[in-house]
Amino acid sequence: MKFSLVADTLKYMENTTKRLELTQYLVDLFKLTPPDIISKVVYLLQGKLRPDHEGVEIGIAEKIAIKALSKSSGISVAKIENKYKDIGDFGQATAQILEKKTQTTFLSQDITVERVYDTLYKISELRGTRSQDMKMKYIFSLLNDATPIEAGFIVKIITSNLRLGIADYTILDALAIAFTGSKENRPVLEHAYNVCSDLGKVAEAVANNGTESLKDFQVEMFSPIRPMLAERVKSPQEAHEKMGKEIAAEYKLDGERVQIHVQDNKIILYSRSLENITNYYPDIVENISKSLDTKKVILEAEIVAINEDTGEFLPFQELMHRRRKYKIAKAVQEYPVTVNFFDVLYINGKSCLDSPYKERRKILEKIVKEDSFAKVIPMTITHTDDEVEDILENAINSGCEGLMLKQLDGTYRAGARGSNWLKLKREYRNELGDSLDLVIVGAFYGKGRRTGRYGALLLSAYDRKTDTFPSLCKVGTGFTDENLDQFYQILSDKITIKKDPRIQSGLEADVWFEPEVVIEIVASEITLSPIHKVAQDKIRKGSGLALRFPKFTGRIRFEKTSENATSIDEIVILYNNQKRVIQDEKRPNFKNM
Ligand code: AMP
Repeated sequence: MKFSLVADTLKYMENTTKRLELTQYLVDLFKLTPPDIISKVVYLLQGKLRPDHEGVEIGIAEKIAIKALSKSSGISVAKIENKYKDIGDFGQATAQILEKKTQTTFLSQDITVERVYDTLYKISELRGTRSQDMKMKYIFSLLNDATPIEAGFIVKIITSNLRLGIADYTILDALAIAFTGSKENRPVLEHAYNVCSDLGKVAEAVANNGTESLKDFQVEMFSPIRPMLAERVKSPQEAHEKMGKEIAAEYKLDGERVQIHVQDNKIILYSRSLENITNYYPDIVENISKSLDTKKVILEAEIVAINEDTGEFLPFQELMHRRRKYKIAKAVQEYPVTVNFFDVLYINGKSCLDSPYKERRKILEKIVKEDSFAKVIPMTITHTDDEVEDILENAINSGCEGLMLKQLDGTYRAGARGSNWLKLKREYRNELGDSLDLVIVGAFYGKGRRTGRYGALLLSAYDRKTDTFPSLCKVGTGFTDENLDQFYQILSDKITIKKDPRIQSGLEADVWFEPEVVIEIVASEITLSPIHKVAQDKIRKGSGLALRFPKFTGRIRFEKTSENATSIDEIVILYNNQKRVIQDEKRPNFKNM
């Protein structure tokens, strides 16, 4: 299949933000794609080669791509960089640079999707000292044979600059329309996707055999299941209204969620965003089998850092010390953890997703042999608001965030946020009542003690409808010196020459970043703002929303992708709730009259 078909589709898609049009372009492309390469097309459309959990990364720095482009076009690196800066889009800059060249040479051969994919795959496998040269060679060969438009998209894919504003569900819609004739069938595709977390695999199955093959998509070992999420409730009453009388209450521990796949000696750990995080936890790999009375199982747990002397749970940020490439053994010694199981998704060849919570819980209690390293999160069956309130109090006193409330008959709804699980945190009157997970999009250089580091960060929420990152606040408090160093380090990889077009803010940051790092923020209030752009014009014309007195809590939410950041809708709800609290307070208090 000619790569030009993909490139043309990408070009049309870049020129629209309307979801219906985006979907239609995808439908047209999928219909033209032979089923045996549809998975490759789906991965490329997402700027990937394989699903995230397989950890296959193209990983080309912009600098290398610019060098290859310079070699292919005969134009100097400095000139290319300037062009890129002027245009602000690497793909368009590449296309314009190569435009001149194609007028003087003739193309040697058509490039195909297979060739692009296979070359990128080879690049992803390169390791070692000579790998940079080899990468250059491969990119050079592709750029040489590609048309300017194709080359533009190739450089965008390899440098992770392809941003089409399409989420997984848009691709699922398009696959449903292209291969089953109707969007109505999307739930069947979605179910298969939630079970295997591999859009390419779902695409291949539906393109070959329609929905039939999807119905019996099974849970497989080492193919992570999309995690079930919880809805927020504000009180035990609200939980009882949603769940009925009998509710299972578990402590909500403050750690990192992990999906553990164990088959004999093979153990893989997946994070909440389904990244393979096995390397950070060699102690879990070494010890976990001793705590399990089974050899083939998929479990979910919360990893929590502990103080080994006292057995106390430590705050989430202690786990950040485990996120490193080198000296892991030292980090394991210094920052010990416990594994706290809360669910079982598969055991000995059988999926447990359709079993009710109470049965899964029974299995879990049977197979986990508790010791100081592995535990089952305690659970109490409650019937009244007071009981829930008491357990919440105990949970908070033991350093937990709150409670997870679970419907006893509820199945495990992979990939869904629903009312089978509810989270109940302590409410603070006059404060926002909950923290926000925001994306770092820019930074301002520090002064005084912070010279040479960032003094403040610009943070955005995520707008799912438009795939944009409107800013919500500038934050400069809550950072320790260690945090400041850490941010400087983490963010240095994310700097972009120009502001990503998806970022919207009335502030001009000193440095702009790829919107990728998510951090947790608390604040005292949400106010209207002429500068920040969340919910722009929705509440008052000419205003967006902003946080008042924002403060970093110390948590980098490295398990969250920027699409999991707090959404605009959630912020509008918090804004409206807060208005209600203020109005309630102003109401006359009859007792005092
Ligand atoms: P949130 O990240 O605020 O949406 O809360 C959901 C998260 O709570 C899950 O992703 C888990 O990491 C965590 N968690 C802690 N304790 C439990 C528990 N007992 N059951 C389920 N999830 C839990």
